[in-house]
Amino acid sequence: MTNQIKLTDNDAAPLTEAAGDLKVFAPDLAYRKFSMVNVIFYGDPEKGQDWVLIDSGLPTSASGIVESAQHRFGSGARPAAIIMTHAHFDHAGSIETLARDWDVPVYAHPLEMPYLSGQASYPPADPMAGGGLLAVLSPLFPRSPVDVSTHLQMLPADRTVPGMPGWTWIATPGHAPGHVSLWRESDRTLIAGDAIVTTGQESIYEVMNQTLEMHGPPRYLTPDWMEAEESVQALAALEPELVISGHGRPARGAGMREALHRLAENFRAVAVPEGGHYDRKPAMPGKSDSDAYR
Ligand SMILES: [Zn+2]
Ligand SMILES: [Zn+2]
Repeated sequence: MTNQIKLTDNDAAPLTEAAGDLKVFAPDLAYRKFSMVNVIFYGDPEKGQDWVLIDSGLPTSASGIVESAQHRFGSGARPAAIIMTHAHFDHAGSIETLARDWDVPVYAHPLEMPYLSGQASYPPADPMAGGGLLAVLSPLFPRSPVDVSTHLQMLPADRTVPGMPGWTWIATPGHAPGHVSLWRESDRTLIAGDAIVTTGQESIYEVMNQTLEMHGPPRYLTPDWMEAEESVQALAALEPELVISGHGRPARGAGMREALHRLAENFRAVAVPEGGHYDRKPAMPGKSDSDAYR
């Protein structure tokens, strides 16, 4: 185990409301943790505006997502869109069910689209790189490629985020080729997906206890550590005030920023597993040279 960058409970974003499993941490941001992965609900129910779902959890999460959505946004609530930070099985698990039942568009980066349109599957994760998490999740591994092609759309090339005015998407590859983070400049809020995570994913203890720590992307399935480092550096340079990632509790403030900078500056020592393919660019299916999406 390499060095860990600790955070304290003072760095946790305070919850303003916790209704059942749904946790509200900003007027327009709430999340629910399914097993160990976060699903995020954007939208302020007081304002009656559109709301947006970010990621879709595990294959078993769909009914819980619908239940939390109705609790927060009213019965029959349906989002304006679903935004995918990336298409790993723990984020795309319920996407087929939700896209079909809600009949809403699903937006993703073009490099992630093969994994959402039945064309490609992520390879089985390397159990040596993530024993704790994978032991918990192995019964949930998908058995066939995810296909939401009838609802799938590219994130706009102008970097706006459908249904989320004031937000932009940022390409943060490394953990997945088309991984994106979402950023709101006005209050420096960052939805980081798995580009960083705020809890350890490599042991069952960490997964269960959600100890607040600053980590690079989960080691399972991260194929390109060079890109992952550049992505973390780009996120640190944003100087976020509030961060929620795909795993772990939301964090905020100066202590969180300091930890993020320490991670960016010591990335190879802290985040990259021994034997991680740091200096070799892996072949990436579907990788394009499109400048608009880098
Ligand atoms: Zn992931
Ligand atoms: Zn994940």
